Amino acid sequence: MKRRINAYMVLVAVLGIGATMALLAAIFYGVFRRQIMADLRICALFLQEESPEELLLTGTDMREEGVRITLLDSQGKVLYDNRTDSVDMENHSLRPEVRQALEQGEGQAIRRSATLDKSTFYYAVKLADGRVVRVAAEAESVYSFLSGALPGLMWVGAVLLLLSLLLAHCLTKRLMEPIGKLTDHLGDGTEIAHYEELEPFIRTIRKQHADIVENARLRQEFTANVTHELKTPLTSISGYAELIETGMASGEDAARFAGGIHQSAQRLLRLINDIIRLSELDDSGEEQMTERVNLREMAVACAEMLDVSAARHRVRLETGGSDCYIRGNRIMLEELLYNLCDNAIRYNVEEGLVRLEVCREGNRVVLTVRDTGIGIPKEHQERIFERFYRVDRSRSKSTGGTGLGLAIVKHIVARHGARLELESSPGQGTTVRVLFAAD
Ligand code: ADP
Repeated sequence: MKRRINAYMVLVAVLGIGATMALLAAIFYGVFRRQIMADLRICALFLQEESPEELLLTGTDMREEGVRITLLDSQGKVLYDNRTDSVDMENHSLRPEVRQALEQGEGQAIRRSATLDKSTFYYAVKLADGRVVRVAAEAESVYSFLSGALPGLMWVGAVLLLLSLLLAHCLTKRLMEPIGKLTDHLGDGTEIAHYEELEPFIRTIRKQHADIVENARLRQEFTANVTHELKTPLTSISGYAELIETGMASGEDAARFAGGIHQSAQRLLRLINDIIRLSELDDSGEEQMTERVNLREMAVACAEMLDVSAARHRVRLETGGSDCYIRGNRIMLEELLYNLCDNAIRYNVEEGLVRLEVCREGNRVVLTVRDTGIGIPKEHQERIFERFYRVDRSRSKSTGGTGLGLAIVKHIVARHGARLELESSPGQGTTVRVLFAAD
C-alpha cells in the first residue's frame, strides 16, 4: 500500500511537472512571437511615415540588421526590396499579410523558412497613396525555440522531480504512520489518532479481534472442562475394573462394581454425544435442512418419549395448546424439546408437574415448558446456558446431566432465529418460553 501510494504521488508529480513544462514553453513561445510582431509593426509604422528616398536609405541600413523591407504597389507588384532585385520578383498580392494590409490597412503572417529551425515573420502596412510597405525578419521557429529551451527545462524538471520524490516519500510515511501504529495496538485498545474514514473499519477489526480472543478463551476453557468431565467417569471405571481384576470384589460386590462401570460408561457416552452435538452446532458453515413442522405434534411425541422418566421421578407430565406450524430442522427441534422437558422432570419435586404447551401469539408460535420444580436462583439464571455450568453439580450428575443440555438449546434457538425467555423462582418452579416465527 505504501509503495502504491508513493508510486501514485510520483506519477502525479511527473505528470504535473511535464504538463507545466509544456505549458510554460507554449506560453514563452507565444510571448516571443508577439514581441517580434510588435517590433516589426513599430518598424513598419515608422517606415509608413518616411519618404521614398528615406525608405531606400533605411532599407540599406536595415539589411545589415537582417530586416527585409519590401515596397509594393496597390496591385501587389514589387517596387523595391532591400534584399533582391525587385524586377525578378513575382506579384505579392496573394500573400496573406499583403492582402490583409490592402484590405484592412495592416496585415501580418508567419511562414516557415526553407530550413525547419527558422520562421519568417511579416508585417505589412498600407501607405496613404495605396502602396504597401512590408517588413520581414527571420526568427527561431517553434521547434528550434523548444529545442533551445529544452536543456533548461530538463534541469528545472529534474530538480522538481527530485523534490517531489522526496516529498512523496515523506508524505507517504506520514500518511501510513497511524495505520502502522494501529496495527501494533489493534488488540490492546490504545487510542491512536487515525483517520476518521477508517473508524468503521477499525471498529469492525477491533470487534473481530475481541471475538477471536474471546472464542479462543472459551475454547480453551471448554477443552479444559471436557478433559475434566471425561476424566471423572473414566477414573471410576478404571477403579472398579481394577478391583474386579485383582479379585478383591467377589459375588455381590462384583455385580455392584460392574453396575458402577456401566453407569460411568453411560455417562461417558452421554457426555461424548453432547460434546459432538455441540461441536456440530458450532460448525455453523452448512445450512441445516428445514421443513414445515407442527410443533404441538412434536411436543406430544416428546412427552410420550419421556413418560417413563417422568413416572420414575414421580412427576406428572401433560401437554396442551393447539396445532401450530413453524419452519425448522426436525432433529434439532426434537433435541430442544427433549432437553427442556428432561430438565423440567429432573429438577422437579415429587408429585410435581411439567406442562408442555404450544400456542400461537400473533405471528409467533410459543413453546412453553413449565415445571413446579426446585427453580433457579436469580444469580444463576444468566449463566445456566453456558457449557458445563450447573447450579447443583451433584444433582445434575446423579440425574444423568452433562451440563451441556441448555448450551445445546441456546444454539438451536439461535439457529432458528427464535428467542428464549426464562422465568424462575426457587422453590416454585421454572418456565422456559421459546418464541418462533409462525409459518
Ligand atoms: P444439566 O445436564 O446439568 O441439566 P443443563 O445445561 O441442561 O445441564 O442445565 C444447566 C443447569 O441449569 C442445570 O445443572 C440446573 O442446575 C439448571 N437447570 C436447568 N433447567 C432447570 C429447571 N427446569 N429447573 C431448575 N434448574 C434447572
